[in-house]
Amino acid sequence: MNDSISVLNSGSSSIKFSLFDQVEEEELRLVFSGQVDGIGVMPKFTAKDAAGTVLAKEQWDDHPGQGHQQYISRIISFIRQHRVKLGLELVGVGHRVVHGGSKYNRPVRITAEILAELDRFTPLAPLHQGHNLDTIRAIEKIGPEIPQVACFDTAFHHTIPEVAQRYAIPRSLTEEGVRRYGFHGLSYEYIARCLRHQEPELASGRVVVAHLGSGASMCALQGGRSVASSMGFSAMDGLVMGTRPGSIDPGVVLYLLEEKGMAYGDIVDLLYKKSGLLGVSGISNDMRELEKSQAPEAKEAIELFLYRIRRELGSMVAVLGGLDGLVFTAGIGENSSLIRRRVGEQAGWLGVKIDHSANDKGEPIISTFASKVAVWIIPTNEELMIATHTRDLLLKR
Ligand code: ADP
Repeated sequence: MNDSISVLNSGSSSIKFSLFDQVEEEELRLVFSGQVDGIGVMPKFTAKDAAGTVLAKEQWDDHPGQGHQQYISRIISFIRQHRVKLGLELVGVGHRVVHGGSKYNRPVRITAEILAELDRFTPLAPLHQGHNLDTIRAIEKIGPEIPQVACFDTAFHHTIPEVAQRYAIPRSLTEEGVRRYGFHGLSYEYIARCLRHQEPELASGRVVVAHLGSGASMCALQGGRSVASSMGFSAMDGLVMGTRPGSIDPGVVLYLLEEKGMAYGDIVDLLYKKSGLLGVSGISNDMRELEKSQAPEAKEAIELFLYRIRRELGSMVAVLGGLDGLVFTAGIGENSSLIRRRVGEQAGWLGVKIDHSANDKGEPIISTFASKVAVWIIPTNEELMIATHTRDLLLKR
């Protein structure tokens, strides 16, 4: 029987899952993946094998009050059924957990004590951490013997220097955890690992990675280690995102509170769900829709998205003292030739030159021979990173 690792990524409205099996000593291979989305509204369950063949497509009922637990048991039984059919043994389950606080700089095997500790970080990521931990608890109930591993979005950024982690606020607040953490760490770790394998010389240099998806951030890598992130205390800071504003003067939040008399929940809703590309365009949070639209508001949203990337890139180049490589990843970064071209043009002052034909075809390297900066597209794979960490932690001592 071959070993297999299951990966779960649990959000507020969706739960993604996948199963990897161990082919050779070092390689993990995707067997199938799927998700339940539309949780709380109209849950839809889909699963596909690695070749894209549909294994399941179902409408599920939502039983209010039963939370994510009701879906987890069905997902786990789906995984078990298919795993057994394929003759695969389950080594453990790896989870994406948003916050590891200041303590966890690497994945950790879950125990009751660690779970209680991770719960203390819930106020730092109120929209995500609770769902991540509920999923771990649900699996513990179903199969207490299943080893579980938490992989943190913050862990990769522990190498960010102290000065870049601090906010200029009273020390006591910094000490209690009000500091810049940075997120999307599993994606950046995966990209850093790919670069190390594919282009070790570039990987040892100064690279900025732009993770442009529904959530968007940038990370400065020096020798493959994170030295700066556009995200900070929460996953709201930095770039313009699908529905989040990115950097915003805290004075705006005070204005909403004091002058507009907005309640906490309404401000959370405005900043997490109604801002960003959606807020500016008034049309959509989906870059594909905005690129197709002729509306001036859609163009303004795209221009703002690009402008903030331009500024963030400049600030990261200042931190790195130059730039050897630029990597695009995630939904927009991997698929939008328009955004890549425009970011490349904006970075012309750094000696970036985009090969338009390679960019239109979405080739791995999209800079010209003459470009002073190597520009890459690397599809991210956070799930594989989680599976790899889980296997390493549970099988390699
Ligand atoms: P997340 O994992 O954060 O939900 P993704 O990395 O999947 O997000 O990115 C989702 C976004 O990618 C979509 O909202 C869409 O705007 C964008 N996207 C996907 N394909 C394209 C495309 N061909 N052109 C432009 N944008 C795209």
